[in-house]
Amino acid sequence: MMRLPAFRYHAPTQLSEAAAILANEGPDAMLLAGGTDLLPNMKRGQQTPATLVALGKIESLRKSTNGTGLVLGAGLTLTELVGNPSLRKMYPGLWQAASVVATPLLRNTATIGGNICLDTRCTYYNQNEDWRKAINYCLKKDGETCWVATSSKTCRAVSSTDTAPALIALGARVRLVSASGERVVDMQDLYQDDGADYMQRRADEILAEVILDPMQDWRSTYWKLRRRGSIDFPILSVAAAARTDAGGTIRQARIVLGAVSSEPLLSAEASKFLHGKKLTDEVIEETGRILAKLAKPRGNTDLTPIWRKKMVPSFVSHALRELRGDDVSELRKRIAHQARN
Ligand SMILES: Cc1cc2nc3c(=O)[nH]c(=O)nc-3n(C[C@H](O)[C@H](O)[C@H](O)COP(=O)(O)OP(=O)(O)OC[C@H]3O[C@@H](n4cnc5c(N)ncnc54)[C@H](O)[C@@H]3O)c2cc1C
Ligand code: SF4
Repeated sequence: MMRLPAFRYHAPTQLSEAAAILANEGPDAMLLAGGTDLLPNMKRGQQTPATLVALGKIESLRKSTNGTGLVLGAGLTLTELVGNPSLRKMYPGLWQAASVVATPLLRNTATIGGNICLDTRCTYYNQNEDWRKAINYCLKKDGETCWVATSSKTCRAVSSTDTAPALIALGARVRLVSASGERVVDMQDLYQDDGADYMQRRADEILAEVILDPMQDWRSTYWKLRRRGSIDFPILSVAAAARTDAGGTIRQARIVLGAVSSEPLLSAEASKFLHGKKLTDEVIEETGRILAKLAKPRGNTDLTPIWRKKMVPSFVSHALRELRGDDVSELRKRIAHQARN
């Protein structure tokens, strides 16, 4: 049995208190939300915080407000998100993404904040201490070499969060709070292409809430590729959102690939290409080609990188056909193992 190492534990009831503890403890402290990723990582020695600051008792992180858009407290569980009718109606892409994370049991505990800040993943890293020691560890933690790309000076571990691509496609922002103040950051600027240092969030900042603007004329969707119908992390995902006029011409579109890089990839080229076009079969096919060029899957997660890259145009096609209004429910059931949309 793998045991947790010793650590100091704080469970503040106020956000300001949590921010003050983080500031005092320095970078050896980590935030604990649902713990569904962090605690197993600590057992395997991947993450070794001296102090945990638990967020579960901070009521303000567990609120959602529904004004013109939607503001989601970072401490809301994924089950609570999936059960939120406004979210399902206004932001179906986010609803779909949240509803395919892990399993129902894990979603009961896992939070949206933890999902956004989820550690990157790699076959050489998501192993126990003895396994990693036997290969002399790796660049991401305790070692000097990246075993996926031995000449690389940067870790290529994979961004594996389901909700981040969906939130980026929806143009969401997050509020980050620290003892020295707060700032609002676009989700698309929150990540960086480094599997070891994958977020722009500072160690003393708490992700307090997710801000979604009203999106009346938008449609959104999320498609996830994984080996099994539950539990598995994505090995490719496509999040798409588009605003069309009454005649079906696209006025704005955002397509994001997940799980094929160390950060979610928003395609500026696809947004530009789709502007002013209708979603014809030809346009959908060309968009798939644009996204496939962007995807750089590596051999450090399930199934081969070549096959995962080949799947990009198909998944883009499923997503855009759904935005067009095609009935893809059977396809979604078969491919995404998701019965409802
Ligand atoms: C078997 C299994 C299957 C899984 N499958 C999936 C999957 O398919 N898709 C997927 O996306 N995830 C998956 N996960 C990972 C995980 O369960 C989810 O990503 C979950 O949403 C993480 O949330 P949490 O609240 O448990 O985060 P925690 O484990 O508590 O924290 C995760 C990280 O986020 C940081 N953090 C948490 N809250 C905040 C905050 N408010 N501000 C700043 N930093 C914060 C923590 O310090 C930590 O670094 C799986 C996990 C398991 C064990
Ligand atoms: S990509 Fe390289 S450095 Fe990063 S976790 Fe994998 S082996 Fe380690």
